[in-house]
Amino acid sequence: MALVNENYSNLQSSYLFANIARKVAEFQKTHPDADIIRLGIGDVTQPLAPAVIESMHKAVDEMSQADTFRGYGPEQGYEFLRQAVIEHDYKPRGIQLDIDEVFISDGAKSDVGNIQELFSAHNTVAITDPVYPVYLDSNVMGGRSGQFVDGKFENIVYLPTNAENSFSPAFPEKRVDIVYLCCPNNPTGTVLTRQRLKEWVDWCKTNDTVLMFDSAYEAFISSEDTVHSIYEIEGAREVAIEFRSFSKTAGFTGTRCAYTVVPKDLVINTANGEKQALNPLWNRRQCTKFNGVPYIVQRAAEAVYSEAGYKQTREAIAYYKENARIIREGLEAIGLTVFGGIDAPYIWLKVPTGMTSWEFFDLLLEKVHIVSTPGAGFGPCGEGYLRLTAFGSRENTLRAIERIKTLKI
Ligand SMILES: *Cc1c(COP(=O)(O)O)cnc(C)c1O
Repeated sequence: MALVNENYSNLQSSYLFANIARKVAEFQKTHPDADIIRLGIGDVTQPLAPAVIESMHKAVDEMSQADTFRGYGPEQGYEFLRQAVIEHDYKPRGIQLDIDEVFISDGAKSDVGNIQELFSAHNTVAITDPVYPVYLDSNVMGGRSGQFVDGKFENIVYLPTNAENSFSPAFPEKRVDIVYLCCPNNPTGTVLTRQRLKEWVDWCKTNDTVLMFDSAYEAFISSEDTVHSIYEIEGAREVAIEFRSFSKTAGFTGTRCAYTVVPKDLVINTANGEKQALNPLWNRRQCTKFNGVPYIVQRAAEAVYSEAGYKQTREAIAYYKENARIIREGLEAIGLTVFGGIDAPYIWLKVPTGMTSWEFFDLLLEKVHIVSTPGAGFGPCGEGYLRLTAFGSRENTLRAIERIKTLKI
């Protein structure tokens, strides 16, 4: 009989979104007339930009003619898109990348999850707490977590990230093989400073640690004092893999396109102490298990870098950022302590003293009919916080804040 991958039995069911859905469904059943506003979801709501749609239509037409039809494309992505990524996202920041260091994919989530396959199951992993759950769960599946004891995995190093350390986690007490950083951060909506990221790169170099740098929310950055790419920092090419996505940048959550940069200078060890570059391994992995992103979707992504496409996608981001400002200032006006929302579409608020994140979630749902996300769902250190998102419509965002202001807290 086939034996199951036992690592999967170590996975902790993420009750978070299922629990939220259940609570909302129950509330709706008992309050059929309640007008519920959802500020819990991490998904965009604005349509694709006109320039993106136009490019996509053109590509669809190409697929209808034998002489312009495309079958399997390069597993790493078409050159036109990889080149556009280099020209627009890296060159203007003084970063030189070779075309074979950029891998187009169907999502940063898949890449972040799949990359761990290149590493031995014996590697040690550090994650921030709270965290985007994919970093943790993919390593549980890969057998690096150990058992779940008292709310934590015994072999995972958790880096508490909270108001006490200004959302800038301390380094692990002893070296780890792999560390994940998400900047701008989901769920806290905060960024790390350029200086702190330089310290992280230096720490990784000193400790032979690989840095997984997720910058899916890069397009939301307004602060000067952070980086748009980890490769703005000297030495990062030797330690860091960078994950980017068109999902939040250009509303591609349902269209699916992202990219990962694996620099050729990034080398790790083989069991007998030889050096192994990760770039050819990732190339091999993608060529073996992935057949590329649809031509139509890659043409759509390319249009994000056109003059019109860039302008239009930035307008959508400005719209979400204005929502974030409305939420932030609205909550501050009633005396709540809020973080994030400046460089990210997430507002991370401290729940009123004496309440848990789930209690405040319930209060918002029952009293003002607003759906949020309890911080505790993102890790033990998320307890005491709650996440609101700026991805809703302007109208709903304004109405939600007016309702929250009626609460006596
Ligand atoms: C939304 C998000 C992504 C993007 O994932 P895709 O698979 O490209 O849609 C990556 N990382 C984080 C932290 C995210 O919140």
